[in-house]
Parts: sequence; C-alpha cells; structure tokens
Amino acid sequence: MDGDASMDERERPPEEILADVAARVRGCTRCELYRSRTHAVPGEGNPHAEVMFIGEGPGWHEDRQGRPFVGPAGQFLNELLEQVGLAREEVFITNVVKCRPPGNRDPLPDEIAACAPYLDEQIAAIRPRVIITLGRYSMARWFPTEKISRIHGQPRRFGECLVVPMYHPAAALHQPALRSIVEQDMAKLPAILDQARQSQLATESPTEPKAEQMRLF
Ligand code: URA
Repeated sequence: MDGDASMDERERPPEEILADVAARVRGCTRCELYRSRTHAVPGEGNPHAEVMFIGEGPGWHEDRQGRPFVGPAGQFLNELLEQVGLAREEVFITNVVKCRPPGNRDPLPDEIAACAPYLDEQIAAIRPRVIITLGRYSMARWFPTEKISRIHGQPRRFGECLVVPMYHPAAALHQPALRSIVEQDMAKLPAILDQARQSQLATESPTEPKAEQMRLF
C-alpha cells in the first residue's frame, strides 16, 4: 500500500536513501542528457545537513568529475561558505538537473521535469532547515513567477523549511556588480539558520502559548 511505503521511506536513514538516489541517477536514462554525459552528478554532502544548496546543472568540470560545483563557480561557492563559517562537508550541494546540458545550454523543461523526482527524494531524505536556490532554475521550483532581482536574499517558509533565492555564483563571476550582492545575501545565512532553528523549536514545544510561537516567526 502507498501509505505503508512512504512510512518505510521515512524510517530509512538518509544516507541510505541518498546512496540509492545517487545510484539511480548514475544509471538514469529518463531524458536525453544521459547520451552526452561523462558522469552524472547526483550531489554530495552531509545527509543530515541543515542547509542545502541547489544549483542549475553540472558544467564541464562537474561532468568530468561527477561532483557538483567543482569549477570556477564552485570555487566562489566555497569562498562564500567559508565567509559564513560553513564547511562544504556540512552542507548538501546538488542541482536541478543531474547531467550536463551540452555546451552548457540552459536545461529544458522536460529535462527538469524528468529529474525532479530525484531532487524531491533528496530533499525529503535530508529535510534541511534552509534551502538556498542558486540561479533561476532552482528558484523557479518555489517561486515560479518571481524575479530574482526582487526577492534575492529573502527567506520564505515552505512547510518546515525556509527557502532563500540567491543569484547563481557563476552570474556573479560574469557580472562583478552582482558579487557584493551575493556576498551580502550569503552573509545573512547564519541569522536565517537561527531563525529556522527557533521556529522549529517553537513548533515542537507543546507548552509554548500560540501567541509566543507566532512572535518568533
Ligand atoms: N553550475 C551549477 O549550476 N551547478 C554546478 O554543479 C556547477 C555549476
């Protein structure tokens, strides 16, 4: 029965679910991108991460190595993480599509749709407190009609999780004016994470009066 199956899934350790997703991603033929890939890039990091970063799709370096954000945009992401005292190993990093679109073209809607169940499973397994979307394709999953220039750096609650849209690090490398915006948005992450922890505590506390819980949001 469906209900029983999802209950089993919730009881499985996230490491097991993520390894299973990664194995399926590496053998995936759900869209045409598998034909031109060198390696699929399922994502990597802490299965218990509080913060998850979701980019667009692997580039040339990522396709070669089978790891997310290891090229120039990844170097910048590493610097941004360092800036807020987070190690790469503490967070989980993945992409909307797990195989490189040829020539670094944008992912197509049917490619994003074909890959979405993998991302769904990763999010459900990790249950991060905060999701940072990097660039417009991951942003569109939660904010389909918004403009990044209007909402970047502003957390919005979706269920148990705060989702924060940010510019893609590669965009900041190509447009120097965006660099300090990205740095400023990333600098908000520790406070956003605190906010996420507090609101979870408030929801979990059965003795806290409701008005007090509301104030914490
Ligand atoms: N850009 C992305 O969106 N993802 C990567 O993994 C690398 C570059």
